[in-house]
Amino acid sequence: MAKTKIAILGAGPSGLAQLRAFEALRKTGVKDLPEIVCYEKQNDIGGMWNYTWRTGLDRNGEPVHGSMYRYLWSNGPKECLEFADYSFDQHFNQPLPSYPPREVLKDYIMGRLDKRAIFNYIRFECPVRWVTFSEETQLFTVTVMNHKTGEQETEEFDYVVVATGHFSTPNMPYYPGMEQYPGRVLHAHDFRDALEFEGQDVLLVGGSYSAEDIGSQCYKYGAKTVTISHRGGSFGYNWPENVSEKPGLDHIDGNVVHFTDGSTQAFDAIIMCTGYLFHFPFLPDELRLDTHNCLYPDNLYKGIFFQSNPKLIYLGMQDQWFTFNMFDAQAWYARDVILGKIQLPDEASRRKNMDAWLQRYEQSSTDSQCIDFQASYIDELVSATDYPEFPVHQQAELFKQWQEDKKADIMGFRNKIYRSTITGTMGAQLPRPWLDIKDDSLEGFMSLKFEKVI
Ligand code: FAD
Ligand code: NAP
Ligand code: MG
Repeated sequence: MAKTKIAILGAGPSGLAQLRAFEALRKTGVKDLPEIVCYEKQNDIGGMWNYTWRTGLDRNGEPVHGSMYRYLWSNGPKECLEFADYSFDQHFNQPLPSYPPREVLKDYIMGRLDKRAIFNYIRFECPVRWVTFSEETQLFTVTVMNHKTGEQETEEFDYVVVATGHFSTPNMPYYPGMEQYPGRVLHAHDFRDALEFEGQDVLLVGGSYSAEDIGSQCYKYGAKTVTISHRGGSFGYNWPENVSEKPGLDHIDGNVVHFTDGSTQAFDAIIMCTGYLFHFPFLPDELRLDTHNCLYPDNLYKGIFFQSNPKLIYLGMQDQWFTFNMFDAQAWYARDVILGKIQLPDEASRRKNMDAWLQRYEQSSTDSQCIDFQASYIDELVSATDYPEFPVHQQAELFKQWQEDKKADIMGFRNKIYRSTITGTMGAQLPRPWLDIKDDSLEGFMSLKFEKVI
């Protein structure tokens, strides 16, 4: 019998989790595993965490995937994203502070991978162009552009795993007067270095993580004033003196921005932190997930299997409180379904199950409830596979603590530390406040003298 063939689209944390799930079995001596090909648009693994200075198009003329910027530090405690099968202690051999910078987190995420084995599956610089499914053969046809050979390639697969992320294609709003605005208007996707805005009056538009974090970065690296326009209300943070909030943006006149409360202010630059579009230009209508950023996209059974064709698997499509451990939970579950260890119920039962989750989601309105919702979702996945059980509800409590710490001190919450739910190790203390540590490199960070806390 021909081997089952799987295409994984994307080698970011989600796609890598899927590769690792199969590798974990191979390492225990399981033979006859499916044949896997992972197509990756970039020339390295890591997805968002593969930092690029580029904006716009990459060297192959493909849209740049990366939205990450210099000086980005973890926005949540590392204790909430710890892999259950690879702890921070195991990787670093010393306790680290709870909010590491980007390069340090990347080092950890990549650290558990046997790169030689993993790289065998991946075809780099191969953006996926088109995917179809044949009812007749029950196979997917995947067409990619191989920029290394300069030729298109087409191959057939039994399963397709879409792990292409959803924080890459900017949602860019229009406001009257934008075309006359003399300063720079950019989307958060193209923001790379806060130093660019040193000494400037900067406006950020948006009410979520990008707005608050890019705003904080601009403050940290010397913007003259930082203003955040939040159309949905207020962050409720105790901002420093030269950071302030405004309601929604109404229109722009020259360099003066008019807000919905009638107030006006001049700005040197406007950064649109207005979120991202789910964008699957390689999928036809009948295979394409149609959703916005939320905790339970409809039509994904277990948050993974596409309802009208469950051989099409989506990873990491939820809004993310939890990240890496959630991707693991999904990848292990998907693996076991592909291997026939877990049987999918029929279409009607899947529908019923999704409706129950959607109903529960509807009843989750506060952040605490949403955190618990995602924790329960993960818990259900983990208990069905051999992915190590981990105290996901304890991690949910850490997320709630994190929220309190942010409310108490938005510029100081990254000085806080938490205890690992996996190893019991307490995070180490930064030697100086986060606001004063300007070097975010792996070497710079690891050379700091952290204070060990029992
Ligand atoms: P991605 O990391 O986006 O990876 C998707 C991969 O698919 C990429 O490698 C891309 O090149 C590839 N791809 C896309 N299209 C194609 C195609 N057509 N063909 C082939 N390959 C393709 N999470 C945290 O836990 N902590 C943080 O501090 C944090 N900070 C963040 C900061 C920013 C600015 C952003 C945008 C996100 C942040 N996240 C953070 C969340 C982040 O989404 C996850 O950590 C994680 O990167 C998601 O993994 P993924 O594999 O699902 O998607
Ligand atoms: P997001 O969470 O989807 O939020 C988008 C925001 O834009 C919402 O507040 C939305 O407001 C607003 N918005 C959308 N359209 C708008 C419009 N036309 N006018 C005004 N406002 C508009 O996106 P995000 O903030 O970019 O975050 C994406 C991901 O990146 C998150 O997972 C986050 O964790 C991650 N991230 C992490 C860090 C870090 O520090 N490590 C930093 C940045 C981002 P409404 O609610 O009113 O629609
Ligand atoms: Mg388990």
